[in-house]
Amino acid sequence: MIKKTSRLVLVFCLLLTVLSPSLVQAKTGLTVLGSSAQVDFPSRLIFNMSAESDVNITDIRLCYTVDRVSFAHVTSEVYIEFVSNTTVDVSWTLEMVRIGGLPPGSSMEYWWIVEDIKGENIETTPTQLQFDDTSYLWRSLTEGKVAIYWYEGEKSFAQELMTAAQGALAKLADDTGAELERPAKLYIYANSQDLREAMIYPQEWTGGVAFTRYGIIAIGIAPNILSWGKRAIAHELTHLVIHQMTLNPYNDLPIWLDEGLAMYTEGVLTQEYTACLDRAIAENSLISVRSLSSPFSAYTMESLLSYAQSYSLVEFLITNYGQDKMLELLLTFKQGSSYDAALEEVYGFDMDELDALWRDYVSDQYQSTGRTAAEMYPILIGAVTAPTIDFPLMFGLSIESWVWRRGW
Ligand SMILES: [Zn+2]
Repeated sequence: MIKKTSRLVLVFCLLLTVLSPSLVQAKTGLTVLGSSAQVDFPSRLIFNMSAESDVNITDIRLCYTVDRVSFAHVTSEVYIEFVSNTTVDVSWTLEMVRIGGLPPGSSMEYWWIVEDIKGENIETTPTQLQFDDTSYLWRSLTEGKVAIYWYEGEKSFAQELMTAAQGALAKLADDTGAELERPAKLYIYANSQDLREAMIYPQEWTGGVAFTRYGIIAIGIAPNILSWGKRAIAHELTHLVIHQMTLNPYNDLPIWLDEGLAMYTEGVLTQEYTACLDRAIAENSLISVRSLSSPFSAYTMESLLSYAQSYSLVEFLITNYGQDKMLELLLTFKQGSSYDAALEEVYGFDMDELDALWRDYVSDQYQSTGRTAAEMYPILIGAVTAPTIDFPLMFGLSIESWVWRRGW
């Protein structure tokens, strides 16, 4: 309740905040009297501007550029509808549902272009605007290129997460040669409910999201689920690094590689995944590498197996062919290569041949455990059904939305 009240107060205060760009005047007397923007996170941004002239003002445009990685410099221009007059007071709202939302901590620049009937026009100086989630009092911790923002838990909690983040980056560099190119901001919400409230299109199960083009990650981690949190950070941070590194306008990475690297950086495969693999091998129901190149099934059991296989495929490639080849593969994908062509070029085999080689590898590895499908089944069912309450937390990462990462 206290949190709700403070949230309202903070939102109200923010609505009063005026972010003024330098006010500009043209020779004719055309003047921008005031300009401001209000942040109503995560739903909207409201822009206001007033201007006057000795003749009628006839044209007003709002321009903005969102700070994110893209293949071309994109400026959005909005023609404002208003009644022509010598004094004007306009407002325009950017509804986040229209653009798919912006992550916490993202920023943009905006400016106005105003023209009067004489054809005189003025352009205001671009103003930086930060789209912060003001529902919470964020604290921050920075180390190297990583900044962690959190609001619940002691500094030691954030420090542990930072250690996990730095450890994940070191492991990823060691395994693949991939490194963070641009700074990363990690927003740690206190639970998945708070995280969902920060989303425009929250999925029931959202546990963590990497907004790779913004260099921003948002995850719900309560201080009492620290071990899950560390894995989640390693996972999402890997997506960020790999996407920064391989971004190109032509082709995405195959999903098994993207998710497999994220899983591999988390550390050793946990029991629910190994049980899945064990069972699929025993029942001869492994999914083909070609199928794993497209978004995974939404069904939990199949999704678990997809992640487990992706981990194993990456483990197979790194263990047998080394870091250099993995780095080469990622750099080949950066050129926009097709999946088969990239594998052929780097390893000398395509997806089907990889499938065959990997099946031999994983079958040897798992059948050496000597467990049968019947023996593994109770472990698997136990792992999947036991944590009813924590289901979204445990499997939040297993059923991620690719929409956030891939489309942005
Ligand atoms: Zn993932």
